[in-house]
Amino acid sequence: MIKVGITGGIGSGKSTVCRIFENFGIPVFYADTVAKNIMVADPLLVAGVKAAFGVESYSPEGRLNNKHIAQLVFNNSEELAKLNALVHPAVFRAFDRWLEAVPAGVPYILKEAALLFESGSYKTCDQSILVIAPLPLRIKRVMERDSLSAEQIQARVDKQMSDDEKIKMADFLIRNDESQSLILQVMQLHHQFINRIA
Ligand code: ADP
Repeated sequence: MIKVGITGGIGSGKSTVCRIFENFGIPVFYADTVAKNIMVADPLLVAGVKAAFGVESYSPEGRLNNKHIAQLVFNNSEELAKLNALVHPAVFRAFDRWLEAVPAGVPYILKEAALLFESGSYKTCDQSILVIAPLPLRIKRVMERDSLSAEQIQARVDKQMSDDEKIKMADFLIRNDESQSLILQVMQLHHQFINRIA
């Protein structure tokens, strides 16, 4: 079974693309959603976070104190690296468990991660897809989706690796600029992955 990593900057449309693949019957592992869940559900990770950032990282009921963690890691690359060193291996463990449950006969799966290249997660995949879209369109989409200001979105964009760097690392590109059909592009890749294993 081929493992295909898929990524793209905020608002590029990577979740939308994944939903099209899901409609073709392809299972998708959503690394960022899993990362959020395991912050409270993986005992090893919870213990690591408490050791690194203090017991106040969680409420007595076990809820994550997002504000506390964000304050510590925001604009502090050393603390952020510490957090990532705890979270990324835990996501890899969750991915391995998820893979074991994929039904036999599934030709390939997708792993969606915003930081596919930055986290080294692409190394656990055989192929990678990058979804790209012009920045003004991404900003417009996220403003409508998350009701954030253009400045807030730009600040998030600035923290991510640039598309130019990611294009060099990706095996396949999907252009979500509304000038080309998204479904056709996904269909072409779908057939390519299926033929690769046939
Ligand atoms: P990402 O996961 O990369 O942040 P999303 O897939 O959530 O991006 O897309 C951002 C927003 O833009 C969503 O509200 C989505 O419905 C919308 N969107 C994405 N692609 C298109 C498209 N081709 N046409 C119209 N809306 C789109």
